[in-house]
Amino acid sequence: MNVVNGVTLRGIEALKVEVEVEMTGGLFAISVVGLPDATVKEARERVRAALRSLGLSVKGRVAVNLAPADIPKEGALIDLPIAIGIAHAMGEVRVARPTIFMGELALDGRVRRVRGAVPAALLARKLGFPLFIPEGNAREVSLVKGVTAWKVGHIRDLFAHLQGSSQLEPITPGEEAEENPEPDPDLSDIKGQAAAKRALEIAAAGHHNVLMTGSPGSGKTLLARALKDILPPLSDEEMMEVLLVRSTVGLPLHSSRQRPFRAIHHTSSTISVCGGGTNLRPGEISLAHRGVLFLDEFTEFRRDLLESLRQPLEDGFIPVSRASGSVTYPARVLLVAACNPCPCGFLGDPQEPCRCSPLAVERYRRKMSGPILDRIDLHVTVPRLTPDELVQFEGQVGENSADVRQRVLRAREVQWRRWGPLGFQCNAELPERALRRQVKIDAEGRRFLKDVAGRVRLSGRGISRVLKVARTIADLAGDEGLTTAHLAEALAFREGGDLPWNR
Ligand SMILES: [Zn+2]
Repeated sequence: MNVVNGVTLRGIEALKVEVEVEMTGGLFAISVVGLPDATVKEARERVRAALRSLGLSVKGRVAVNLAPADIPKEGALIDLPIAIGIAHAMGEVRVARPTIFMGELALDGRVRRVRGAVPAALLARKLGFPLFIPEGNAREVSLVKGVTAWKVGHIRDLFAHLQGSSQLEPITPGEEAEENPEPDPDLSDIKGQAAAKRALEIAAAGHHNVLMTGSPGSGKTLLARALKDILPPLSDEEMMEVLLVRSTVGLPLHSSRQRPFRAIHHTSSTISVCGGGTNLRPGEISLAHRGVLFLDEFTEFRRDLLESLRQPLEDGFIPVSRASGSVTYPARVLLVAACNPCPCGFLGDPQEPCRCSPLAVERYRRKMSGPILDRIDLHVTVPRLTPDELVQFEGQVGENSADVRQRVLRAREVQWRRWGPLGFQCNAELPERALRRQVKIDAEGRRFLKDVAGRVRLSGRGISRVLKVARTIADLAGDEGLTTAHLAEALAFREGGDLPWNR
């Protein structure tokens, strides 16, 4: 068995790469085999320079084999194991048992931070191998329990450690202080907007995607950002999933229980949203995994981009293909979309007149029925407050996010108990068949729904979405069966429900 190992990434998973080094006489040359990409070739130069910085000159022919040969390897991660492999083959250092090394080398021998340290730590833990990582990755690795790891600032210190002349600093779980993530708006900071706040509570409780329609300046972005704090805190397992994705991209990590919030712009490329690229990386939808994905100016998004979000919104993961096969990234997100009611933004506004022609409004309205609209259960209008209302709400403090979160948690528990045995977690996940069979409505509610569905011309799909939302409303209230009151509230949040052209 080879004692010197590196890693490469496949999706959010780290795979072991064995480093075999053979040295023979002759003219100096380093060759790297085993499907190396262009960066691995650059690694040769960095490794040679870093070893020279230690006064170690590599002579003769050096053949480095990275096994298994059939998986692609990413260069920068593999610098350190190649350097150690060569030093081991030269008898300069002794690696007594299988060990994983990861890190990029600077020409002067410093070890640079790399992406993928959390996946590497999980792999080291699974294999029971010790792990050496760049100092810059220490904090994220300290969040992984049960791994034996050391942080390396300079290759010189790693040599000294392996030669037994001095000790590197081990990483102990949770030792590193966490940075404070940016504070988020509390629901109580947002004046008025009772309907929108209620929609967010229902969205959080049943994991329903939301579309907010309102004029510029009505606070849609603030409301969207407040949503992540009324969601239940991340569980241990969910937190590890979030850390894995962030580590794979190389973003800083914190051991916070807060759910991620990612906003994407309508000009974003499909790769940046869905993942991919030459150095395969997860996209924004995966960075929002277990949290909130926000699409502002929803009507401006390209159809093909929205189309590519469709399946992941349902499945909770996103496959990304590349030449050598495909990987799957997690993508379980709560989607919040926001848009103006018309091109000028003021249709239905209490003060500013709308300057759009009826034709322009009609065209805009068609744009709003984009490809993922049927994935959105809750529709709510967010009007700008009038000066009167601003005065009226002045000094009033609404309910805070923590209190709403308590209700959300209770409603989630009810759903786990009810749907868990069927393999679902939330009302929004329920497929049509199960919904019809499992959701009980009283006789009056049934009559009411039939009557309204006829009048507002609800489609079959539309009725299903109303039923799901009504189920969540009942769960928030702690009620067993669906009544007219639950259904009536759910109907107010139906597609296009309260939009100006429906009034
Ligand atoms: Zn307008």
